[in-house]
Amino acid sequence: MRATSATIHLGALRENLRRVRELAPGARVMAVVKADGYGHGLERVARALEGADAFGVAGIADGQRLRAAGVSQRIVVLSGHDEAADLAEMRRLRLDTVVHSDAQVDLLAADADPRPLRVWLKLDTGMHRLGIAPERARDVHARLRALACVEPDITLMTHFANSDVFDDAMTTRQVERFERGVSGLDGERSLSNSAGVIGWPEAHGQWVRVGGALYGISVVAGRIGADFGFRPAMTLATRLVAVNRIRKGEHVGYAAAWQAPEDMPIGVAAIGYGDGYPRHSDGATPVLVNGTRALVVGRVSMDLVTIDLRSHPDAKIGDPVVLWGRGLPVEEVAAHAGTIGYELTCGVTRRVRFVEDDA
Ligand SMILES: *Cc1c(COP(=O)(O)O)cnc(C)c1O
Repeated sequence: MRATSATIHLGALRENLRRVRELAPGARVMAVVKADGYGHGLERVARALEGADAFGVAGIADGQRLRAAGVSQRIVVLSGHDEAADLAEMRRLRLDTVVHSDAQVDLLAADADPRPLRVWLKLDTGMHRLGIAPERARDVHARLRALACVEPDITLMTHFANSDVFDDAMTTRQVERFERGVSGLDGERSLSNSAGVIGWPEAHGQWVRVGGALYGISVVAGRIGADFGFRPAMTLATRLVAVNRIRKGEHVGYAAAWQAPEDMPIGVAAIGYGDGYPRHSDGATPVLVNGTRALVVGRVSMDLVTIDLRSHPDAKIGDPVVLWGRGLPVEEVAAHAGTIGYELTCGVTRRVRFVEDDA
């Protein structure tokens, strides 16, 4: 059997939720589980995070999966309904919708079913992705409140564009625009993602919406989840399947892209871009071989990577290789691959064997 596995640390997920509550003591926690729980497995994550007050998903299909798994908390479809048929399905599954456009209000207004849906009203305070203009919040809110098919307790929300930069005035401006837009409207407030929870305590509101922090991942430049008290929830690992002695001047891998500067051992590990390991690299991506660091050299191929073992002269076939997780922050690997940790954990592919531990 191929040794490639992603171990999901259920204890870390639970502890990270506790840490979020410690950082945002007054707020309820929506655990964001879109993209299959940031690649960790939707149902598994929801089970570990059963203490969350709500779950946030990207689409109705994820809501179906969570209800089928017995999740009873509120589930919020973060981009809301797209068409009339969605409303019936959201009712059936007791999913909350997010309203960010007039077109969505029109769909609700045309809905003949009087059984009320729960609505989150999203304001665009500067990210310019989804949301209604703050100046229009009062009107849209009034329009929603007038509909029999909308629960009266509408939650007011916005999303930050740059909250991971803790001294960027943009977040301050977004908070101000939000406060102005919703002033005088009743309903709970929800502003912060993970970085908001960590860096913007004045912006927690009644609901924080947390993804990355629960998985132990930070998007703050140069910082890792552990810097803020979070533990990685995924360890991606494999084993060495070959150790080769390469002569000085010989090339390694596709395109002969790497040349041995001296006679040296090269390890071959069973992981590649077919597993979601990033092919793009700045040439200095670390891995752990037997628990200590070595560098990936040459091109990452679909099923295999090659590793400089000069610092591991005793390494042999079968030895464990960690690509990221415990002992090697995914944020660091991501930086070498020109991306963020979220993209790497989301990108682990179906052929990787997922296992769980309680640690
Ligand atoms: C993804 C998402 C979040 C969570 O963001 P993190 O940085 O992972 O905490 C919160 N709110 C909305 C609307 C989102 O789409």
